Amino acid sequence: MATLLRQELGWFVLGLLMAIIIGLIAEQILLIPLLFCACYCLWMLVRISAIVDWLEEGAAVKKAPPTLGLTDHIVSLTHREKKYSRKQKNRYRTALAQFNSLAAELPDATILLDENKQIRWSNNAARLLLNIHPERDRSQRIDNLIRDPEFQEFLALPEANETELAAPSGRDVTLYLRKVPSGKGMTVLIASDITQRVKTREMRKAFVADVSHELRTPLTVIKGYLEILQGDKTLPEKTHEALDQVAEHSARMQHIVDHLLELSKLEGSHLREHEGEPVAVAQLIESLVSGLQNTTGKDHHFDLTLDDSLALLGSENEVVSACHNLVTNAVNYTPAGTRVKVVWQKDSHGQPTLDVIDQGAGIEARHLPRLSERFYRVDTDRSRESGGTGLGLAIVKHATQRHGGELLIDSLPGTGSHFSIVFPPSRSIDLRDVSNF
Ligand code: ADP
Repeated sequence: MATLLRQELGWFVLGLLMAIIIGLIAEQILLIPLLFCACYCLWMLVRISAIVDWLEEGAAVKKAPPTLGLTDHIVSLTHREKKYSRKQKNRYRTALAQFNSLAAELPDATILLDENKQIRWSNNAARLLLNIHPERDRSQRIDNLIRDPEFQEFLALPEANETELAAPSGRDVTLYLRKVPSGKGMTVLIASDITQRVKTREMRKAFVADVSHELRTPLTVIKGYLEILQGDKTLPEKTHEALDQVAEHSARMQHIVDHLLELSKLEGSHLREHEGEPVAVAQLIESLVSGLQNTTGKDHHFDLTLDDSLALLGSENEVVSACHNLVTNAVNYTPAGTRVKVVWQKDSHGQPTLDVIDQGAGIEARHLPRLSERFYRVDTDRSRESGGTGLGLAIVKHATQRHGGELLIDSLPGTGSHFSIVFPPSRSIDLRDVSNF
């Protein structure tokens, strides 16, 4: 650029010198150089305006204006830039075509929705699973095309990110739907066919429920005979000791069977948005804690912060079970004399939240992700000693999920554990607000 400027200036100075010489010869020392400068400026303006016109008309290579020096450089730079951007455009076009053909063939139905729930783009699987045609249904509102109330509820609820529902095609197909925000109010809706997975899950659930059910009758018979034998004072002491052990194990087995049945009822189902009754959680925790203080024989200091007016819309049995499991664990896995804090209130996002915080030995981070799996225990002997079944936290997790909530676990070895259940704001009920009832 500096060389070009120097060149351009060189030509100008040369021209000016010649104009001065001619001016000297013609005895017009001022007029001729002035005339030269005026002509030079005019010529420059003409060259620049030709380039501007050419740029405005799309800068076609064939129509480039004849130029010299600096302005010629502008023209060739524009050519180079155009060539580069054409190459880039081709590269992007190829990448986009590849992406489109890949996305079109994805096995999961994928639909891009704008802020008005209008379809911007969809793939082939969307036609098969959701009856949404990529071309025909573009720009249509998806809630006008899929009328299923469960789908509409899922779409409308901002906190609902995933759900399972029957495919609108009417075939015996179950879909797993996810909503993924995609910037500027756009949402990607993804639906996967999980029919086979659901069938397997249902079979496993039915099997566990059947086995547990079948075990109940023999257990009741064993318990009955045990009670008769335990009442027989003529039997030797050694036999009584053996009978007590059998009674203890059969009670444990009864407990596991009850927990398995409870879990199989909870798994894989959800309460509808307004389904349930108002559960007075504060009262429930107070009676739970006073019951535990009377029965466990352990002396814990309970620190309760309970919002009496906050109730939860849900299933009372399931909420009782979740609270019971968390508070019992806080007592069973911590030494006597330590403090257990229970808080029931709305968090800063208006979500009804139950926190159970203890001062026990805590749990190592590697166990935390698996803690709510069936039969997962950190310390098997300790769990057995305390009468645990290894199913308590699985029950808490599934009961919470049925209410659209989430179980969060935080723990620091040597400091204690913090279990929280966070429910969606739509499940909160203000008991002072009589109109709710
Ligand atoms: P369990 O019936 O054995 O108590 P849970 O599912 O309730 O089964 O808990 C799973 C495991 O998590 C327990 O065996 C125990 O090792 C651990 N656990 C649960 N709660 C606590 C707690 N408050 N402190 C320490 N460990 C805990």
